[in-house]
Amino acid sequence: METRANMQQIVSHCKNYGFLFPGSEIYDGIANVWDYGPLGVELKNNIKQFWWKKFVWENENSHGLDAAILMNPKVWEASGHLSGFTDPMVDCKECKARLRIDELIEQHSKGKANPDLMTKEEMQNYLIEHKVACPICGKHNFTPIRDFNLLFATKRGVTEDNSSTIYLRPETCQGEYVNFLNVQRSMRQKLPFGIGQIGKAFRNEITPGNFIFRTIEFEQMEYQWFCHEKDAQKAYEYFKERSKDFFVGMGIPESQLKFHDHDKLVFYAKAACDVYYNFPIGWKELNGIHNRSNYDLTQHQKFSGKKQEYIDPTTNEKFVPNVIENSYGADRAVLAILCEALRYEQLPDGETREVMHFAPHIAPVKAAVLPLIKKVHAEKAHQVFKMLSCSFKTVYDETGTIGKRYRRQDAIGTPFCITIDENTLTNNTVTIRDRDSMKQEIINLDELLDYITKRVK
Ligand code: ATP
Repeated sequence: METRANMQQIVSHCKNYGFLFPGSEIYDGIANVWDYGPLGVELKNNIKQFWWKKFVWENENSHGLDAAILMNPKVWEASGHLSGFTDPMVDCKECKARLRIDELIEQHSKGKANPDLMTKEEMQNYLIEHKVACPICGKHNFTPIRDFNLLFATKRGVTEDNSSTIYLRPETCQGEYVNFLNVQRSMRQKLPFGIGQIGKAFRNEITPGNFIFRTIEFEQMEYQWFCHEKDAQKAYEYFKERSKDFFVGMGIPESQLKFHDHDKLVFYAKAACDVYYNFPIGWKELNGIHNRSNYDLTQHQKFSGKKQEYIDPTTNEKFVPNVIENSYGADRAVLAILCEALRYEQLPDGETREVMHFAPHIAPVKAAVLPLIKKVHAEKAHQVFKMLSCSFKTVYDETGTIGKRYRRQDAIGTPFCITIDENTLTNNTVTIRDRDSMKQEIINLDELLDYITKRVK
């Protein structure tokens, strides 16, 4: 029998085993900032690589990009972030907590009321009529509702006047929009085509938290598909399916995913959908797919004064392309994979095995090389480590009993443990133990690299 871990167990497992650490911990940390540890960075890199392969490589009409975090402030005027990238909030007058009013309503109504469909006045009235209490101090004494801008501002250069204000990007996709024509021309690319990029984004969130679910610094994996308006809706449906393939391809069962079509669309959007995952804290957004019409490029055309048009070489039609936005949070994907992987397994002898069932291609460590007796088998084991580590992340462990070493590898989700023993020295064979079945198999050392390579692909 297996049980799923709750959020507290996941956080403590991640700290203990080197997946994630609180940011600047020796200075008592900095709220809602996390550092990826040795295993976390491997896991996140594997997820990002898989995404890159799925979106950038596996499509003939796709290209990668790595645009700068800092952009001309006019970009944020054009995108609407300077004026409209806000969350509605209230302050609790008693305990001074700053709270998102939509979250207060969702929690109070247990998901029955939909703040997305309410005006600000209706949200304010809901708080009053239902005497909603502050989740921190339990009192009901809030300030009037106000908008809070999530943009992170900073200064550039030596002067500190208003003209030197620049912003840390709150999303990566604007880098893709402003480079649309650069990519199209330099790659001699016909429409439709896509641009993918992975990078950091920053938001001054009102209520960050739930481990890495909502942080102020995070990473996005975004893919923009540029196409003619007549092809946009079909592409949108296609990318909804791709999103499912992406998560299922990393070992998340379809039953743990839910597609939530937006009830209320922004004025320019034709369709929008969020994909939810069944986190231990409830169903929450993992990523979004949006049919954004030609709004983004039209805005950049207007604010930059530079045409953002494409001329169809066959029909000579000139138009501003539509965009299908595929927006993934790398850290939310990491969290979903962690939640899905960590299990407590009841063994027949009554013991509980902590195990992370990562899909082998996502697992931070692919193989562990374990000399049975350090003094006798270490030299050969080092050679085996050297051979495997050229191809994938491998660890070497010689401390403790072999049983304890297996358990440690189970707890970090290593799919294969390779034991080097007397037979390795005399017969050139190794014992390979499978994480999930715990079964052991003896194979020739010459076949080991091939065996693991095939299984982790
Ligand atoms: P939410 O409703 O959770 O605030 P959003 O709809 O504002 O998210 P988008 O602007 O669509 O999110 O961003 C795309 C993706 O980036 C999200 O689906 C999520 O995976 C990720 N993301 C957004 N904000 C954060 C954050 N503060 N911390 C971690 N990941 C985030």
